[in-house]
Amino acid sequence: MEGFSPELAVVTHGGGEKLEEPLVVRPTSETIIGYMYSKWIKSWRDLPVLINQWGSVLRWELRTKLFLRTAEFYWQEGHTAHATEEEAREETYRMLDVYADFAIADAAIPVIKGVKSETEKFAGAQMSTSIEAMMGDKRALQSGTSHFFGQNFAKAFDIQYLDTNNTLQYCHTTSWGLSTRMIGAVIMVHGDDQGLKLPPKIAPIQVVLVPIYKNEDEKRAVMEVANKAFAELKAASIRIKMDDREEVTPGFKYNDWEMRGVPLRIEVGPKDVEKGSVALARRDVPGRDPVTGASGKSFVPQTDLAQTVSLLLSEIQESMLKRATEFRDANIHDPKDYEELKEVVKDGWALSWWCGSKECEAKVKEDTKATTRVIPFDQPDGGGKCAVCGECAEKKIYFARAY
Ligand SMILES: [Zn+2]
Repeated sequence: MEGFSPELAVVTHGGGEKLEEPLVVRPTSETIIGYMYSKWIKSWRDLPVLINQWGSVLRWELRTKLFLRTAEFYWQEGHTAHATEEEAREETYRMLDVYADFAIADAAIPVIKGVKSETEKFAGAQMSTSIEAMMGDKRALQSGTSHFFGQNFAKAFDIQYLDTNNTLQYCHTTSWGLSTRMIGAVIMVHGDDQGLKLPPKIAPIQVVLVPIYKNEDEKRAVMEVANKAFAELKAASIRIKMDDREEVTPGFKYNDWEMRGVPLRIEVGPKDVEKGSVALARRDVPGRDPVTGASGKSFVPQTDLAQTVSLLLSEIQESMLKRATEFRDANIHDPKDYEELKEVVKDGWALSWWCGSKECEAKVKEDTKATTRVIPFDQPDGGGKCAVCGECAEKKIYFARAY
């Protein structure tokens, strides 16, 4: 756990008195979990132990960044103990897949899965895996991690079990976590100058309905249609909000909900009542794109509105993932030499051959501030020459400036 010492907050005083023993505020829960596992696990019958908990941890960060790097953060951390190395490795990869699926399918963030270098791995881990995402400013964000500890922690905390031959064995353990940092990722991958842009699957409000009228007669007719549409969508389990505030204008409401990232807006005005239609406005596509001319606004019939909206929400979800994926891929480069690598990581990622040496990794960091992000599971066949030293390299790795 040496790697953690610079990040620890140590309590020396309490209740106005110096404590006999200093208390360490936990930076992660391996120590308390390891201690309990050593008491709970006695026999092969007790295995595997799979525990997930939600909690806050504290790390002494010198420079904090809201959501991305905060001293205290809320997260979900899983800790497991297994009889065999194979099972523990399987669990490590399984949880990384769970995180990647969530990021891609729900948060519409096209993450890359892979293994961390020795330098970047979790203190005490035998292998750290992570999902890495590209933010809107092309910096990388480690968005979730899953670690295989081998027997390192089991030996440190004496987590042993009697196997079927009645022989005492050390467990193989894992831990994995995803934090409120994911919220930062959603903001930075999708957001724009107007504010948040939330993928429909995770948006607390998926649709906002704005009725438009100028007098009591219009209001009566408009609200009848609006209330009906609201009830229909709500019954179809769409998370909808009616914004019938009287004290602000429709234009104010549009801006307000755009800033809050609501994926879809429905407008109902007197003309819509006449025509039997409603207006739909997508948050992810501007009213009229000045470049492509594409319009995020459409007029649809009031009939079958729930179905129309459901389909459109799925389309928005897909389109946000596609946009983020295209952006990411357009900013991943394959530099031909070290000079070019130094250039591309200023404003993008490099996917380059790496010999695996700490020296080459440190040189890139020193020269460019870019760190190794992850050795992707997807690798090209064969090998190449290390982008830094020119020696033989078996694997490609991502270099990027990261949060
Ligand atoms: Zn090298």
